[in-house]
Amino acid sequence: MSEALAERSNGEALLDVSGLVKHFAVGGGLFGAPAGVVRAVDGVDFTIRRGETLGLVGESGCGKTTTGRCVLQLERPTHGRIVFEGTDITGLSQQDLRKVRRRMQVIFQDPYSSLNPRMTVGEILAEPIKVHGIIADPAKRELRVSELLEQVGLLPQHARRYPHQLSGGQRQRVGIARALAMEPSLIVCDEPVSALDVSIQAQIINLLEDLQSRLGLTYLFIAHDLSVVRHISDRVAVMYLGKVVELADRNALYEDPLHPYTRALLSAVPIPDPKLEATRERMVLRGEVPSALSPPSGCVFHPRCPIAVDRCSAAIPPLREIRPSHWAACHLA
Ligand code: SF4
Repeated sequence: MSEALAERSNGEALLDVSGLVKHFAVGGGLFGAPAGVVRAVDGVDFTIRRGETLGLVGESGCGKTTTGRCVLQLERPTHGRIVFEGTDITGLSQQDLRKVRRRMQVIFQDPYSSLNPRMTVGEILAEPIKVHGIIADPAKRELRVSELLEQVGLLPQHARRYPHQLSGGQRQRVGIARALAMEPSLIVCDEPVSALDVSIQAQIINLLEDLQSRLGLTYLFIAHDLSVVRHISDRVAVMYLGKVVELADRNALYEDPLHPYTRALLSAVPIPDPKLEATRERMVLRGEVPSALSPPSGCVFHPRCPIAVDRCSAAIPPLREIRPSHWAACHLA
């Protein structure tokens, strides 16, 4: 645990995900029967401590967004438990879930599509505060809207603008303010900077970090790129084809990755120093990510793994703690 995290957290788990499975039946079989099952998430376990940021990384289609949606209960899991603030939320009724949802918010990749174009920023921020009965008095609500705008680095006059009158970075700030309006403890950040220019990405990541230390927030930060989560994460989980293949403290993962897939992802991240960039070894993966409809036998990474041995296609490697707090699912790690 980093020193900064130790200050923010007493090691208490805010979110505990165990044995999470989400399968989707796909149609197209005879007489309307399912033609197969997409194993989008296939046995995922992780814990996020209060005040921590867990980065969840993997290529498109690896199951990271579905994992985030299951945590938020926007998708009901096929199996597994999701314990949030001490309550297993997987079996809750819609009514009970509504109360819990307030404490878990989401920031999307594309805030434009999630902001109502016919509402001003002030209305967008005031609406959930009113609907959830957080502040009943309109004048106090208006004050809260100004405070939220200030917290995300916007001005009071932005309250009168419409989403189309804002830049991409400003819209993402509104998306963050809307999440904060609900006074959450956990925010699922689903690729929150992927659609933004690189210079704006850094500003948004700094803002999220600043809000975390001011408000004691906990983040599940989903991204397809290891370089994006490096700065903000305390720990990082790498997913491949529905499974977590490596999970470790940030520094251990970036400086000494144990899983060949993590090594391949890291070797694709550009190094700013041109001399180092020219001399370092690149690990190029063969082929594409296989379909989650028919995942490979044994280690799901074996068809692309440069160091695979016979055992890899026969036996599934369990996620093991190879070093203290450093887990990997590889027979050879
Ligand atoms: Fe590669 Fe085998 Fe390790 Fe899978 S178990 S990552 S195929 S070496």
